Amino acid sequence: MSEDNRYSRQALIPGWDQNKLDKSTVVLVGVGAIGSYVATILASSGIGKLVIIEFDTIELSNLNRQLLFRNEDLGKSKAETATRRLKEINPDIEIEVYDKKMEDVSAAVYEEADVIIGCLDTFIGRRWISSMSLRVKKPLILGGMFAFLGDVQVIIPDKTACFECQPLVPDEELAQACTPFGEERKKEREEEEEEAKLPAVATLSSIIGGIMAQESLKLILDLGEPLENYMFYDGLNNATTIIPLARTEDCPACGELYKLEQIEFVAHPTETIKDLMLRLALTYGLEKPDLMVGGKILDVEKSVENQLKEKSTAFILDKNLAKPIKIVVKIKKL
Ligand SMILES: [Zn+2]
Repeated sequence: MSEDNRYSRQALIPGWDQNKLDKSTVVLVGVGAIGSYVATILASSGIGKLVIIEFDTIELSNLNRQLLFRNEDLGKSKAETATRRLKEINPDIEIEVYDKKMEDVSAAVYEEADVIIGCLDTFIGRRWISSMSLRVKKPLILGGMFAFLGDVQVIIPDKTACFECQPLVPDEELAQACTPFGEERKKEREEEEEEAKLPAVATLSSIIGGIMAQESLKLILDLGEPLENYMFYDGLNNATTIIPLARTEDCPACGELYKLEQIEFVAHPTETIKDLMLRLALTYGLEKPDLMVGGKILDVEKSVENQLKEKSTAFILDKNLAKPIKIVVKIKKL
């Protein structure tokens, strides 16, 4: 390897496999503060393909910590600006951009990832991406920050605790995310998605982003041991606390008890999800069920044919159920 090779210094690390990195894909959800650092590190390290999912635009108050962006970028798309800057750093990597919400990106995109990285500051957002990582069975690295405090979680589907196994999510947050039915939920969701004005400093985004990027490189290159599996960092006291979270058997997202025998349930193509759920509620004696497919709660106002396919696997959630009911949809015309 010639001395002026871009990657010659990291290639000196025992076990480092640049070819493997070059063939790898990371899906990065959120390229704000922490995501800027993750993206910069992965791009300069020579990740083969970086998929960026981000729908936000650049504001003045972002510039103290979102180091991919500059004054001249105000008002521009974060995803597109980040792509331009990352290409300046390393033109050899492939970058794919989805300038939209993560929920609107197809599961096939997440499935392509060797590692999914979620830089999301809401519980609902983290819960969703955790469900997606379970669905496509790809490792997920989550990270967040608040002033000088930060956290990182590494989730390996079916091996480590998922986002909902762990007791660190306040009950009221989960309850809020589980609030069933229509408008009420929609309103809460919109409020949740408004950018929270949280205290934030660049040192934390660089530290947390650096650890997240490092965990992704370790997973891809099979170096060392993955973070087991939740880390809390307190920058003011230089304290790092590692909490090995256990999986819970009755976790609604990944628990073994969740894997029930499949039950076939007939749905009519033109009926609404609300109508279908009324029948499900009557059949199973539920109070206010939600229907979830692929980590996503179905819109009750839309029709069955709009949101379900023959043999779709769906989960019925209800506060009266200790564990969700898994059904397989059978589409049948009336
Ligand atoms: Zn779980």
